[in-house]
Amino acid sequence: MIYQDLLNESALESYAAALNSRGGTARGRLTADGLRDRILESGGRCEWCAVNLVNAEFELDHVLSLRQGGSNSVANLVVACPDCNRRKGRKHPARFAAELYRETGRRTELLTRLFQRYGLDPAQQLPLFAEGSPEAAPAIDAGVEVSKVPPYTWVD
Ligand SMILES: [Zn+2]
Repeated sequence: MIYQDLLNESALESYAAALNSRGGTARGRLTADGLRDRILESGGRCEWCAVNLVNAEFELDHVLSLRQGGSNSVANLVVACPDCNRRKGRKHPARFAAELYRETGRRTELLTRLFQRYGLDPAQQLPLFAEGSPEAAPAIDAGVEVSKVPPYTWVD
């Protein structure tokens, strides 16, 4: 979908239908209105890396994937640039947040919420990330029993 102040209604409906169909048995059901509100809240920026998305292609990303027990609700969706969405892939959101922060030094609101939610201090983590490949990074996933993580809501 292309980010514009006036989002295309039928595109929103198709997107909601596609997410609901992919959502399977996950909690939550999405509507075009819900998606529009959530999308506009992003202010036209990727909520991961803050790149400007106005008049550009964007995607909706389940912060905690459905596979990891995330819900199919707007509280678990963020506006993402295609690059962030692809790079995040199946990574745990806290892991991807730390990876992005290490690269950019930029702490978006979403990153801040994730660091708080998972009790991470990226300033402390950074030295550990300094050497080696991303795969050598501290296993954030290991510290978070994904199946036991309560439903993730980043909206207060
Ligand atoms: Zn991005």
